[in-house]
Amino acid sequence: MAGGGETRPWEGLLAQLQAQRRFMEMLTQSLVSGYGSRGRIYCAKGCSGCCSLVVNCTLVEAVAIAATLDEGQSALVDAYVARLRGLVTGITDLKEYLRLHRRGSGGCPLLEGDGSCGIYGERPLSCRALLSTRESRWCTVDFAALSPEEKHSFMEGLDREAVAFPSHYLASGRDAGAELENRLSMLMTLAFGFSLSGTMPLLVHLVKRHDLALVAVKGRGAVEELLARRGLDNPLMLHVEGV
Ligand code: SF4
Repeated sequence: MAGGGETRPWEGLLAQLQAQRRFMEMLTQSLVSGYGSRGRIYCAKGCSGCCSLVVNCTLVEAVAIAATLDEGQSALVDAYVARLRGLVTGITDLKEYLRLHRRGSGGCPLLEGDGSCGIYGERPLSCRALLSTRESRWCTVDFAALSPEEKHSFMEGLDREAVAFPSHYLASGRDAGAELENRLSMLMTLAFGFSLSGTMPLLVHLVKRHDLALVAVKGRGAVEELLARRGLDNPLMLHVEGV
């Protein structure tokens, strides 16, 4: 990012993000150990099931991630965005988008070959918020392909008092992640008059290759113009809110 007045609002937002990450770290440690009395959290290094899902984040997080990527990682993000463009062409239904993404996106481009996260310290709040109460195969399963009996058995096995039903992820982790994301969006709205969130690699690509962080300082109109020019003004992938 260039220096000067354009970066000043971002400094405060990125400092907030750092504080939120520290909070989330402490919270998830406490949730994992607290859940030990009633069950097990299966998340562990090398287990990357949830990395095949659509990963969303706020623009603030994307700005932080983009600043740490090397050229190899940036090229992988670019290739993911090219695949994503092909997948969403002609699609307007969210479920269809999620299904096609699962089958054709190749998953998060920042996942390393050994199953570890290539940006672990910078990973989005949404990644930190997923704490799985079931084995990793349930993070990648296509529920549309299961028999009614298999679906019933899965639902019956869920710890309904703890999970964000009908998912198998701890509700308290998901809720905390969503609350922190909302707070970042609110702070971004205070700084720029609007907020932007959506598919993480796409936002990172726009920051890295098209100066989205600097464009955001000019306001919502400038951002919408950039997205339209790049053919990326698609609400399935990106959400602009505010005046
Ligand atoms: S950022 Fe890291 S944890 Fe999140 S989906 Fe990508 S590889 Fe997985």
